[in-house]
Amino acid sequence: MQSGTGIERLWTVLDLVKWGTDYFTGKDVDSPRLTIELMLCNVLSCGRVQLYSTFERPLSKAELATLRSFVQRRVAGEPLQYITGEGPFFGHVFHVTPSVLIPRPETELIADHALRYCRGHRDTRALDIGTGSGCIAISVAVHAADSQWTAVDVSQAAADVARGNAERLGVADRVEVRVMDFLTELPEGQFDIVTMNPPYIPVAEIDAVDPVVRDFEPRGALTDGADGLTFHRRLAEVLAGAPFLTERGMVLVEVMAGQADVVEAIYGSIGGKTTVVADLAGIPRMVTWQPS
Ligand code: GLN
Repeated sequence: MQSGTGIERLWTVLDLVKWGTDYFTGKDVDSPRLTIELMLCNVLSCGRVQLYSTFERPLSKAELATLRSFVQRRVAGEPLQYITGEGPFFGHVFHVTPSVLIPRPETELIADHALRYCRGHRDTRALDIGTGSGCIAISVAVHAADSQWTAVDVSQAAADVARGNAERLGVADRVEVRVMDFLTELPEGQFDIVTMNPPYIPVAEIDAVDPVVRDFEPRGALTDGADGLTFHRRLAEVLAGAPFLTERGMVLVEVMAGQADVVEAIYGSIGGKTTVVADLAGIPRMVTWQPS
């Protein structure tokens, strides 16, 4: 897909799917075919099914120029979701910017369990700490119409993204997004559900993280600048203090691979009941805590 050759050939969707798949394969980009297809979907404002039915459609010059810049950015290492501005989570598309962590499939475990809780209880009051794109709170709110969420994040830019997602997915009236530093402040009231996917990578390990993550995703969403456990210690301390969780309440937190035992011990040290749940890859990924 060279430009400036003087010969303007016509590129159809199918040509570009083939070309992009080969090009990304040669550049060691993950999921080469999916990557070029999602880029094309974004450029052409269509879904993947629609893309398959428009294989013969040629791209305009402007569309090609956009696609070319997407390809260059991806090859330079930028995550696809920041390029297209979209990331899937729990069956919905979330808008993302470099101010928020890209939603991960393993985090759907938290959303799934929070939703199960909401279906077993009425009128849940819920808190999502470090909401980022808002993916956890918003996903559950979409499916549990009687749940009311407070979603907090220390970053104003992240809160703006989360608010936009709540509006787009029709739950802005039930997901209140607030800028708040959970390490020093607390939302008022009591909650039935508390979810948290904190910045849990120990700062000493950040250099070893995949560059596509390390060099592009917000540092403050990845690491606490310490041993990765700061937010868990803080939440455990809050739970041990004045009533923050209702008696029927439940805490669901994500942990890094290899962190489950130490995180379970942190919450276990304040009494109550803990469990560890593995993700689809079999990695212990979520710790839950209940008062008794
Ligand atoms: N809660 C958001 C998510 O799960 C952001 C988490 C974070 O930034 N550490 O994707």
